Amino acid sequence: MKTWVWVVIVAVILAVSLTVGVVLLTRQPQGNVAYVYVDGELVYQVDLSKVDQPYLYTVNTPYGTNVLEIAKDSIRIADADCPHKECVEQGRLKGSPLVCLPHRLVVKIAEDDADSVSR
Ligand SMILES: [Zn+2]
Repeated sequence: MKTWVWVVIVAVILAVSLTVGVVLLTRQPQGNVAYVYVDGELVYQVDLSKVDQPYLYTVNTPYGTNVLEIAKDSIRIADADCPHKECVEQGRLKGSPLVCLPHRLVVKIAEDDADSVSR
């Protein structure tokens, strides 16, 4: 086969992989935003995919205090002054929301844009 044919083939392969790479890099990350509610009101939100360094965030509710540990793609209730600390024992949020009943605190991750779609 002539050399120029190979040059064309390689150029096409390069162009396709570049396009795929750009599409993958610029694609919006799927919902990884954690929302913190107290009494049904949004008090804090954080995009977990953009967290570089783990940090603690203290939520002061009218009923007590919860300390959230926020890290990359991970959120949990690290400490709380509720009686049974069931929220702390729930560990990391995966799927079902973290709930602190005595403090009326809920932490959940938006799976997608269902809220804006249904509007
Ligand atoms: Zn609790």
